[in-house]
Amino acid sequence: QRTHTKLFIDREPVTPDGVRIEVELNIAAADPDNLAGAKYTDGVGLFRTEFLYMGRNTLPSEEEQFQAYRKVLMTFQRRPVVLRTMDIGGDKPLECLDMPTESNPFLGNRALRLCFRHPELLHTQLRAALRASAYGNLWLMFPMVASMDDIYMAKAALEQVKAELKAEGHPFQPDFKTGIMVEIPSIAILADQAAAEVDFASIGTNDLTQYLMAVDRGNPAVSSYYQPYHPAMFRLIRHVVSAFAKQGKPVSVCGELGGDPLAAAVLIGSGIRRLSMNISSVASVKEMILSTDLKKAAALSDAVCMMTSAEEVKRYLKKTIYSEY
Ligand code: PEP
Ligand code: MG
Repeated sequence: QRTHTKLFIDREPVTPDGVRIEVELNIAAADPDNLAGAKYTDGVGLFRTEFLYMGRNTLPSEEEQFQAYRKVLMTFQRRPVVLRTMDIGGDKPLECLDMPTESNPFLGNRALRLCFRHPELLHTQLRAALRASAYGNLWLMFPMVASMDDIYMAKAALEQVKAELKAEGHPFQPDFKTGIMVEIPSIAILADQAAAEVDFASIGTNDLTQYLMAVDRGNPAVSSYYQPYHPAMFRLIRHVVSAFAKQGKPVSVCGELGGDPLAAAVLIGSGIRRLSMNISSVASVKEMILSTDLKKAAALSDAVCMMTSAEEVKRYLKKTIYSEY
């Protein structure tokens, strides 16, 4: 890639035709390394909280979680921090919890499903997150949502915690935003129904690719079938964005596709206005935004949705985008 790209890291990400795109950070802990990107970004688009639970024999207490969440919220002040409730299971087992071996862990007891099986885990995490909301701009997000029932059950757990904290006199921000990850095709297809129940969505393209293409994201034997650039992905993403837009609700992308400048150009052309990524991608995505007219991006989106393979999409994007900036 180009060597001058890093010069773009502290630029304001506005397209040449004047559309401001939010560039947000994916983080996995509340430590200085993870928070170093705060000065270059519009918030945290994905706080992967499961790392608090991993590599240890005891569960993190409410107080420990509260301290970590508060630190991130205070670092970003008014900027949103999308705190994702724990996504344990799949490729991320938990030593501090007895988890039976599964033959298909990615299709098994993961994330929200695990939380519903062990309600005390979600309860503790929600208490910590809500208490931390008094210190910044919390957006709470649930991962691995497959059905409307998942949404209803997660919201019910949340209501219970709100009532509890209120009764105990703990301060919290009463109208923080609540959203879901769209990373399972069933809820992507029902996006209109989901949008009626939540304030925002964030598309997890890593798992969406895995579940849409039926390819284990961690299995090297089938990695050539794992195709995030597949036209089916871009069509489904457009479907989600337009369903949420009809109800005036924002959709971001926080999977790897959002931090890939070629794909991100298609995403903004598909109506995405928030992209969340690792710090290492911020400069190159900003560079793309600063040189990509929204009209041009919309044409890219139209074009890739009509193609027949990921290979064709990739070739087209490389040729079209890299020749212009
Ligand atoms: C995703 O699935 O795209 C995502 C952002 O979540 P994770 O990679 O943590 O599963
Ligand atoms: Mg995921």
